Amino acid sequence: MKKEQRKITIAIDGFSSSGKSTMAKHLAKTIGYAYIDTGAMYRAVTLYALDHDMIHGDNVNVEALTAALDDIVITFGVDDDGTSFTCLNGRNVESDIRSMRVSDKVSLVAAIAPVRRAMVRQQQAMGRDKGIVMDGRDIGTVVFPDAEMKVFVNASAETRARRRFDELRAKGDTTTTYEQVLANVVERDRIDSTRDESPLRRAHDAVDLDNSSMTIDEQNRWMLDLFKQRAASCEL
Ligand code: C5P
Repeated sequence: MKKEQRKITIAIDGFSSSGKSTMAKHLAKTIGYAYIDTGAMYRAVTLYALDHDMIHGDNVNVEALTAALDDIVITFGVDDDGTSFTCLNGRNVESDIRSMRVSDKVSLVAAIAPVRRAMVRQQQAMGRDKGIVMDGRDIGTVVFPDAEMKVFVNASAETRARRRFDELRAKGDTTTTYEQVLANVVERDRIDSTRDESPLRRAHDAVDLDNSSMTIDEQNRWMLDLFKQRAASCEL
């Protein structure tokens, strides 16, 4: 009788717009695992803070946002065509959370300790039963330090900005310039890597992937091959 494969936890971390989510989503679908985009969770909290007038310039009203954390419910849904989307208190906010309005402030909000604690708690609960692919900045270091498969994705800032810029154009944003996107990517890298609370770090046992000159198909194959190796070694 064929032994059922033991499920593992997959942590995919890396810099902004490195293509982690595209790869993570594809891998999860291929192997039948759940997928969680933790960046979308920090983006949804940021949208809530903006909509409730808690951010002015670079200042976030930490006290008000901390007090509101119990009122912020983030869930994920799936469209008929299999595309996943993010909901904030029951409302589909997938398009709003990808806007430059949110991108400009999200790293400030993600640096707030009580926000991180609340998100990490939810993420750990979502991954309790394994069989999950989660992408973010601190998944292999803080959320699931014992994950059986950890990948750290990187590409040059220019490559990443070009990808994000093309994505915004494809979604109909004709006003944001490439230079604005590049500045946002560089600034988010800086804030994410230097914050006190869970800064973006490569886990010591992560496998590096620089995908600057890889096609999406090549990246997907690379991920699947690594998964097969890890899943096989967990069977031993
Ligand atoms: O992955 P994405 O670029 O959508 O994430 C948006 C922002 O959320 C990041 O720039 C980072 O500030 C924050 N983030 C984080 N920890 C995570 C995921 C995202 O701090 N696990």
